[in-house]
Parts: sequence; C-alpha cells; structure tokens
Amino acid sequence: MEEVDRDLLDRTRTSVAGVWAAGDVTGLAQLSPLADFMGRLAADLTTIPTAVFTDPELAGVGLTEEEVRTRGLDVEVVSYPLAVVQRAFYIDATRGLFKLVYERGSRRILGIHVVSRSAGDVVQGYTLALRHGVTVDEIAASHNAFPTFGEGVKYAAQRALPVEANGALILG
Ligand SMILES: Cc1cc2nc3c(=O)[nH]c(=O)nc-3n(C[C@H](O)[C@H](O)[C@H](O)COP(=O)(O)OP(=O)(O)OC[C@H]3O[C@@H](n4cnc5c(N)ncnc54)[C@H](O)[C@@H]3O)c2cc1C
Repeated sequence: MEEVDRDLLDRTRTSVAGVWAAGDVTGLAQLSPLADFMGRLAADLTTIPTAVFTDPELAGVGLTEEEVRTRGLDVEVVSYPLAVVQRAFYIDATRGLFKLVYERGSRRILGIHVVSRSAGDVVQGYTLALRHGVTVDEIAASHNAFPTFGEGVKYAAQRALPVEANGALILG
C-alpha cells in the first residue's frame, strides 16, 4: 500500500510548485474512481502542514506567496511581526513573523506561514480551516487564548480588514 501511495504521489506532482495533477493525465490506469481519488489527494496535498524545528520554528500550511504568484492567482498577503505578540515579548523570543495569503475576491485563505516558537503547533489547527475554505475575515474575528503565540495569526488577519473594522476589532 505504501508503494502505491508513493507512486501516486510521484505521478501527482508537476514541475510547478503547488500544482498537482489528477486523473488520466497522470498516465496511471484510466479509471473514473482513480481520477476521483487522485483529485481528492491533490486537494489534500495543499492542506498538509509542514514544520522545521529550528529556533524559531518555521511552519506552514497551504500555498506560499511565491507559489500562488507562480500560479497567477489574484491574491493579497498580510503579515504581522512576532515581536509585538505579548507571549513572545514576555519570554524574549521575538524573532518571527506571521504571514497569511488569501484570494482577493473570495477572501479565502490559501496559506498560513509562521516563524515563531511553537509555529508547528500554531499552524496545526488551520489544516482543517483551509480545507473548509475559511476566509481571512473569519480568522480575524476568531478567538484565542491569551497570551499565546497563535494570536499572531489573528492579528495578521485583522490587517486585511478595512481600517474602521480593524480598529473596532482591536479595541472591542
Ligand atoms: C468510452 C470510455 C468509457 C469508459 N468507461 C469507464 C468505465 O466504465 N469505468 C471507469 O472507471 N472508467 C471508464 N473510463 C475512463 C474514465 O472516463 C476516465 O478515467 C476518467 O473520466 C478520467 O477523469 P479525468 O478527470 O482525468 O479526465 P476527464 O473526465 O476526461 O476530464 C477532463 C476534462 O478536462 C476538459 N479539458 C480538456 N482540455 C482542456 C483544456 N485545455 N481546458 C479546459 N478543460 C479541458 C475536458 O473537456 C474534460 O471535461 C472510460 C473512458 C472512455 C473514453
């Protein structure tokens, strides 16, 4: 089974980062259920989180800014420095960043990338959020425990809001 999975993954990968193939075009068996399965596999690949356990950690889920620009998608990018997230400030671990990539029209989140202590844990929950098409506005209005590193994702999302809404959310 592992061999099959590895073969499927290899056939699914294309020369363009962040773009996967599915179905007859892969050259595997030309069967409708296989095309369906590979389509879902390709969709899942965009929501697999990654983490590099350096200090600070590097973690992300979804597409990077570079990947979406390569694909010619119409996107916006917002970021927020770790240095002004209280938890980081308290323990003097302030080197880092939160970056969100979202589609301009739908405002759907395409990628979340974090450089921070515990970045791997921070992105973890967003795998489900991305799969369900969460918008930047929904993350901006979400709730976090305080003080946590994960608050940085919400604050980055709030930078995507109109100024008046942004102010209301931060003060409210
Ligand atoms: C006669 C026949 C009978 C079959 N019977 C069975 C069967 O009984 N059971 C089974 O499991 N499988 C069967 N298959 C195979 C099955 O149909 C395919 O494996 C499956 O449809 C592959 O799905 P796909 O998404 O890869 O490709 P497709 O279903 O062919 O979808 C590709 C789509 O891309 C579109 N497209 C192509 N070029 C472009 C372009 N440049 N821009 C935009 N769109 C484009 C096409 O119009 C098409 O809608 C049969 C195939 C044929 C031809």
